Amino acid sequence: MSNLQPHVLIVEDEPALVELLSYNLEKAGFQINVARDGDEALLAVQERKPDIVLLDWMLPYVSGIEICRRIRRNPDTRDLPIILLTARGEEDDRIRGLEAGADDYVVKPFSPSELVARVRAVLRRTRPAFDKDSLTYADITMDLTTHRVSRNGEPIDLGPTEFRLLRFMMEHPGRVFSREQLLDSVWGHDVYIEIRTVDVHIRRLRKAMNLPGTDDLIRTVRSAGYALDINAEVA
Ligand code: CA
Repeated sequence: MSNLQPHVLIVEDEPALVELLSYNLEKAGFQINVARDGDEALLAVQERKPDIVLLDWMLPYVSGIEICRRIRRNPDTRDLPIILLTARGEEDDRIRGLEAGADDYVVKPFSPSELVARVRAVLRRTRPAFDKDSLTYADITMDLTTHRVSRNGEPIDLGPTEFRLLRFMMEHPGRVFSREQLLDSVWGHDVYIEIRTVDVHIRRLRKAMNLPGTDDLIRTVRSAGYALDINAEVA
């Protein structure tokens, strides 16, 4: 796995298990955030969208399966990868878990290395960009280890924010993102930044990427946002 440090939200009320999971996932290069119940989990997801959620079925107040449904109902978090953790191993429960929208299902007790492997497998399946050392789209290549970007073989100089912005867009090519979504995903929820800051950085990114004789690859969608799109100019 490259230096992307995927962010895992652990939703579990048992301190010993939280500790075991945190220790092993951090050792495997993940960033960790912990929620002790469903409300905390939903708040955490709103505040900073994780790359994957490890969700215990048995939680105080609201069950993990209900939290899973709520995450799936919200358009902002519909695609969030979720692994359900549970002591139940019955086939019926497994089916219920998957029907509620979980991507995978791990039965307690599990070995930490098995769990880490399952997390990686779900990330690989749902976000192929996580397992790569480089990204390419059209004539752009981004090396995620050295942070070098080139277009048509010509190096492109990007500031750190433009780099993160382009990386996010290259991970989801063709998809239109609102300014709010870009702020949340690229800058994070915990910083206060004016929405038009996004426009400033998009402008810088365009200027850096649009070498002489190349097409504009960033599509501005009126009142909706921006997309990295090979057909930007004809759209
Ligand atoms: Ca529990």
